[in-house]
Amino acid sequence: MKGHRARKRFGQNFLADAHYVRRIVDAVDPRPGDNVVEIGPGLAALTGELIARAGRIAAIEIDRDLAARLRETFAADALALHEADALDFDYTTLGNHLRVVGNLPYNISSPLLFRLAAHASQLRDAHVMLQREVVARMAAAPAAPDYGRLTVMLQVAFRIERLFVVPAGAFRPAPKVESAVARLVPLREGAPAIRDAALFARVVAAAFMQRRKTLRNALSALCTAAALEAAGIDPGARGETLAVADFVRLANSLHTSLSPPAGRGLG
Ligand code: SAM
Repeated sequence: MKGHRARKRFGQNFLADAHYVRRIVDAVDPRPGDNVVEIGPGLAALTGELIARAGRIAAIEIDRDLAARLRETFAADALALHEADALDFDYTTLGNHLRVVGNLPYNISSPLLFRLAAHASQLRDAHVMLQREVVARMAAAPAAPDYGRLTVMLQVAFRIERLFVVPAGAFRPAPKVESAVARLVPLREGAPAIRDAALFARVVAAAFMQRRKTLRNALSALCTAAALEAAGIDPGARGETLAVADFVRLANSLHTSLSPPAGRGLG
């Protein structure tokens, strides 16, 4: 690995198979001038090809040693490198129509995906490689065993496509699991309007906390059975049977019933 010792704490499994590098970059299809940001460029398996097609890109890398190597390899006008944690990074500094690309560190995949969802309006698309099971959860349909909190929190913001599987042998060191590449495209006009994002997130988290519970029980700290019925939701149903749009309707209905009427707020 060109003298670099892979760091487990940063989820370092480097792509080392030219066939999959090409397939991923082909799936992204970067064009000159595209606003590409790569998360975790590592040893630059994807980076060089992304720069060759887009002209210049930005990247966020947490590992100081890898960041130093990247600065040596690529001119600053080809790679705008941010030595930072992608979980804390201020994505608004990168501008709009962002095209996110990343063979993501598996240990931070869920929080990173939630961050991308929070910035969906700023994105054109995202292509991410993750553990195969995580991609299955992201793309699941209601009532499927993989359908859960991650599914709902992402599908409310993105159309998600599972593109292809990448075997463990394509990486150095080889991980214990298979990977898959997913494409996320923000919903834009079709996106359901959430009135209170924090309340929506609480409702979704509570509904899936214990999958076997009915919504009446799972959401008892947030609302009554009557409030569920008022939103058109069966209190005897389980969270896994609700479509993404049902969660939005429920959270919006609770928001309306919890908010004081206009002009009659406290104080
Ligand atoms: N893109 C390279 C490839 O395909 O071979 C490396 C992929 S490796 C799975 C993940 C990369 O993300 C590593 O370079 C690692 O140092 C970096 N990384 C891990 N945690 C990060 C974080 N919180 N923010 C930014 N980069 C991170």
